Amino acid sequence: MLRPPVRSTCNRCANVSFDSSHAASSVGEVSSVPENRVVIGPRGVDRLRSGHQWVYRSDVRSVDADPGAVVRLFDERGRYHGRAFYSDRSQISIRLVTSDDVEVDREFLRQRLLAAAEFRKRVVADSEAYRLVYGEADALPSLIVDCYGDYLVMQNLCQSSERMKPLLVELLLELFSPRGIIERNDPKVRLLEGLEQRVSTLYGEVPDEVRAREGGIEYIYDLHHGQKTGGFLDQRENHEAAANYASGEVLDCFSYHGGFALTVAAKAQRVEAIDLSAAAVSAAQRNQKINGFDNIIFREANSFDLLKQYDDEDRRFDMVILDPPAFAKNRESIPAAHRGYKEINLRALKILRPGGYLVTCSCSHHIAEALFLQIVAEAANDAHRTVNVVERRTQSRDHPILLTVPETHYLKCLILRCL
Ligand code: SAH
Repeated sequence: MLRPPVRSTCNRCANVSFDSSHAASSVGEVSSVPENRVVIGPRGVDRLRSGHQWVYRSDVRSVDADPGAVVRLFDERGRYHGRAFYSDRSQISIRLVTSDDVEVDREFLRQRLLAAAEFRKRVVADSEAYRLVYGEADALPSLIVDCYGDYLVMQNLCQSSERMKPLLVELLLELFSPRGIIERNDPKVRLLEGLEQRVSTLYGEVPDEVRAREGGIEYIYDLHHGQKTGGFLDQRENHEAAANYASGEVLDCFSYHGGFALTVAAKAQRVEAIDLSAAAVSAAQRNQKINGFDNIIFREANSFDLLKQYDDEDRRFDMVILDPPAFAKNRESIPAAHRGYKEINLRALKILRPGGYLVTCSCSHHIAEALFLQIVAEAANDAHRTVNVVERRTQSRDHPILLTVPETHYLKCLILRCL
C-alpha cells in the first residue's frame, strides 16, 4: 500500500541536491523528514531487470517520499535497485535514473548533460537546431532540451524533472551559455503528473522569431507557440534522406513549416506542399522566401481530400511525402489509425509515376514498425503496385532509441520505390 507522503522542507531547495537520502533520520530520532525510499513488488523488479526504466503504480508497495523526490529503490527483500524519480500522481510512479548507489546531485546531473552534449557532437554535424537531451535515452528521465541556434527550449515532463528546473537552468547556462532559455511545459502529459501547463522564459529573452539552419535550409522558428518545441527536429535526417531521391514533381502532404518540401526543392522541378493549418502554410511560405526558392507552392488543404481528388483526376507525381500527425494516440485508436494510414498510403501509391518514390512516416509509437510495414504492404496490394523498401528509417540520431524502452522508438519513415 502507498503511504501518504510525509511533508518535509529539507530537500526542497533545487539548488542543493535532489538526492536527499542523507536526510534520513537516525534511529530513535523523531522526525517528519521522509527517507526517500520506495519499495517495489516482484513485477516492478522484473520490469527493471528487463531493462525497462519505469515501474507502475500497481507495482509499488510502499512510499516514504515527497512528490518529485529522488528516491532509493528497494524490493520487498530489502535489495537495492537504484535511484529513481518518484511521482505521486502518474501511473508511472518510478523512473529509474541509475542503478548505482550514488547521489543524484548537481555534479551527477552536470555529467549526464555533458554526456548528452558530447553525443550530439558526433551525430549532429550540420545543424544549428537539434535535440540536446532526450529524456530516458539520455538517462535523464522526462527531461527534454532542444537547441535552436543560441536558444534552448526545455520540457520538464515529470514531477522530479519539474522540481529540478532551477538547477537545470543553472547547469544549462554554465555548460552551454545560451542567450535565452524557454520552458515549453505545455504538453498534456504534464497533467498526468499533476503539473500545470505553462510556457515561460526562464532566462534571458527569447524573441518571437528565432532563425537557425538545419543542413542547408534556414528556418524561422516560433519557440513560444510552434508545435512541439518549435520544430520537428526528429525528421531532420529524413528530410535530407528524401532529397536523395527527389526529382520532377513532388507532393508533400503534411508540410507544417516545409521541412520536407524545402529540403527536396533543390532536386525537384516543382513541389506542391499542403497543410490543414493556415498558420503553418504562411510560416512555410516565409521559410521559402528566406531560402530563395521559387518552385514550391504551399497551400492550405486537407490531404485526405486532395489525395482522393488527384487520384480521381489521374494526376501523377514523382515523389509523394506523407508525414501526418500521430493517428494512434492510444491502443484503442489503433484500428482507426490503421484505416487512416492505409487510405493515405493507398492514394499516394496510386498517384506515383512508375519509378516514383513514396516517403511515408508514422509517429505513433502504438503503431510498431512491423505493423506500419504491413499497413503499407496492404495499401500497395490494393493499389496493384510493386514496391521496393529502399530505406527503413526512424527519428534522427539526436533522438536516440533506448533499446530496452520501446516507447522511445516512435518515428517510422519508409522510403519506398514504386516499380
Ligand atoms: N512534415 C513536417 C511535420 C508535419 S506535422 C516536418 O517534417 O516538419 C503534421 C502536420 O500535419 C501539421 O502541420 C498539421 O497541421 C498537419 N495536418 C493534420 N491533419 C491534416 C490533414 N488532414 N491534411 C493536411 N494537413 C494536416
